[in-house]
Amino acid sequence: MYRVLFVDHAQALGGAEYSLLLLFEHLNREQFEPFLVCNPSPLAERARQLGVQVIEITMPRLRKNVLAPALLGRGAYRLAKVIREKRIDLVQSNVMRASFYAALAAWLTGVPLLWHVRDLYTPGVYVSWMARVARAAVAISRAVKEPLPATLPCYVIPNGVDLSLFRVPKTESETLRRSWGVPEDGALVGFLGRLRKWKGPEDFIRAMALVQARYPAARFVLVGGTVFANGGDYEEELKTLARGLGLGDKLFFAGYRRDVPQVLAALDLLVHCSVVPEPFGRVIIEAMAAGLPVVAYNHGGPSEIILHQETGLLVPPRDVRSLAEAVGLLLGRPEWARALGRAGRRRVEQCYEIRALTRRLEEVFVQVIEAERESR
Ligand code: UDP
Repeated sequence: MYRVLFVDHAQALGGAEYSLLLLFEHLNREQFEPFLVCNPSPLAERARQLGVQVIEITMPRLRKNVLAPALLGRGAYRLAKVIREKRIDLVQSNVMRASFYAALAAWLTGVPLLWHVRDLYTPGVYVSWMARVARAAVAISRAVKEPLPATLPCYVIPNGVDLSLFRVPKTESETLRRSWGVPEDGALVGFLGRLRKWKGPEDFIRAMALVQARYPAARFVLVGGTVFANGGDYEEELKTLARGLGLGDKLFFAGYRRDVPQVLAALDLLVHCSVVPEPFGRVIIEAMAAGLPVVAYNHGGPSEIILHQETGLLVPPRDVRSLAEAVGLLLGRPEWARALGRAGRRRVEQCYEIRALTRRLEEVFVQVIEAERESR
């Protein structure tokens, strides 16, 4: 039995945490015993429900913090204690701040570190340091791998989805559509993601204002809340923008939803328009799993996931007019849109199915642990 310690500091659930929870759910427990070190958080609760041994250690923010060295030292010391006590074979770090703590603790204990790279970094001190401490990395997309030094062994293993969750009875999706005021003959275009500026909700609203001029029966929904607390009044700002562009009664703000498969089943297409390159974009594979075509800005992870004109449409980043045109094209050709959606689901079956991807990750875990054992 291999004992693997996962480290993630997130206080709210984002794509990285949903991916980690899916990994816990599908990890082969006959071969691996998972442990999780995290801040007290919803992640801790959800991981416990999945039978993971959770140890809560506070890992405070380090950036712009004069106490950073002391906090990092204390957190890493506690983490190192867990690594020794639980006789951990491998430390797997999930996101940037957690990786700082995990890397220091792994270095202190000599236990190998697998760096799960879930962000797009620019080469610099952090990347060089992590690349030196980690035995290997797993990158969630080719875009994420690119800035990493070639000396670091790096496996590209994308995030996955559980396809069985995305078969939703029609009655459920129809109820949702009615509650959002979608007319019988109207299409519903959605945005799904945290309400943060870089996720591009403003571009979505501006583009949909152009779309509704041509397709008055179409309706739009913005799904997602201001998770990670620092959203402020952004939602209010977005509502004002929508009203100003004449979308008042056509764009529904659904807030943060826990029933994403049901939400996706109610849509006709998903728009993904992060204004800076997205490291991956879980919501895209989820939409494809739900059989939706996806229109996205052509950069970062989305360019790798979406096959242009096969599973969706890719348009130049930050080009609101092209975004609107692409959505209009699909609304005008619903048969084609549905065919793209079906192809998307097949692509998820082939490339993003969680069980197959978990087996690939497990192979990497074993490889790193066994290489370490041999080198001793
Ligand atoms: N999500 C959710 N409810 C919402 C909005 C988002 O459960 O209202 C989930 C979404 O289904 C996805 C994750 O949050 O699994 C977002 O992952 P993604 O990689 O797209 O973005 P991130 O939050 O990691 O930047």
